[in-house]
Amino acid sequence: MYQLNDKIKNLVPYEPISGTYQIRLDANECPVNLPEEIRAQFHLKLDEIAFNRYPDPLAERLVNSFAEYYGVKPELVTAGNGSDELIFLIESAFMQKGDKMLVVAPDFSMYQFYSSICEVECDSFIKDEKLDIDVDALIEKINRDNISLVLFSNPCNPTGRGISRAEAEKLVSSVSALVILDEAYMDFWTESLLDKIEDYSNLIIFRTASKLVGSAALRLGFAVANLPVSRAIKAVKSPYNVNSVSQAFGEVIYQQKEYLRNRQKTIVRNKEMLYNGLKELSAAQNDFAPVESVANFVFIKTTRAKAIWEFLKEKSIVVRLMGDYLRITAGTEAEVSAVLQALKEFFC
Ligand code: PMP
Repeated sequence: MYQLNDKIKNLVPYEPISGTYQIRLDANECPVNLPEEIRAQFHLKLDEIAFNRYPDPLAERLVNSFAEYYGVKPELVTAGNGSDELIFLIESAFMQKGDKMLVVAPDFSMYQFYSSICEVECDSFIKDEKLDIDVDALIEKINRDNISLVLFSNPCNPTGRGISRAEAEKLVSSVSALVILDEAYMDFWTESLLDKIEDYSNLIIFRTASKLVGSAALRLGFAVANLPVSRAIKAVKSPYNVNSVSQAFGEVIYQQKEYLRNRQKTIVRNKEMLYNGLKELSAAQNDFAPVESVANFVFIKTTRAKAIWEFLKEKSIVVRLMGDYLRITAGTEAEVSAVLQALKEFFC
């Protein structure tokens, strides 16, 4: 009889929270669908697609549109089927037997998850009590422990904290390890290192269309790196990894500069409203501590996380439960008001 191997036999498939909820604030997505004008452009694009042909392996038009939006050279960009694909791809291809990788904790759990599938030794660097990274201590650990790859999100999911550009540059220039900065949430903050990508041979930056860009359904992620690393990523990826529909729609979306700028302002404003509302509630509680965030969600430490999560779910509001923490995505203004009102009811 066929036996599954040890590394996969106890894995359970990813199962997102089931059921239909009126308000979904659990996955850090953009709270509104793309507007009619943009979707009308998609219809035109659909007519241009040769469905009988394989997609463009280099997703050239999509990559050009992305590169123009962010002001980077297109030859330094690789498109992926979501950043998820790129994380798995780079961990498996850039690491070999005996190499060690490092993640920080807490952080996006998929980094460590994929390392176990790749059978790569993966250590964790624990953040301080304010959930921040002590960059000097991180550098020391990377160099002392002979780490080949360090990978973390900046800003961080789930904490919403981030390290500054200066700190990120200090890290990249002080280690010979490959540093991957996952800037999935950098569209909501100011400290990107994208413009420095050519200054370093050991830096990869991930971006995604799933958050600010409001296109999680398309599964579009991007890796930006200097030319030799970028060529290696393109060499190891599967040839037709981004389907033609996502390529065509993604090309349109990154041309919507004004729409994306306005969306960014609205989401950041709603995040502030959420954080300020939570902070106000926390004043009367000694076990409810929202963490100031530079992303589109707020992380809250509370031992009552499970009870609050269940209470909100009863009201058809779903947020993310993570042990003694909750993570709440900034939704629309009405959704933020609703979750704050529901929390008020929980506490009274
Ligand atoms: N990186 C981080 C830090 C994330 O939070 C997420 C999504 N939750 C991803 C990557 C995955 O992005 P994508 O949708 O592009 O696969």
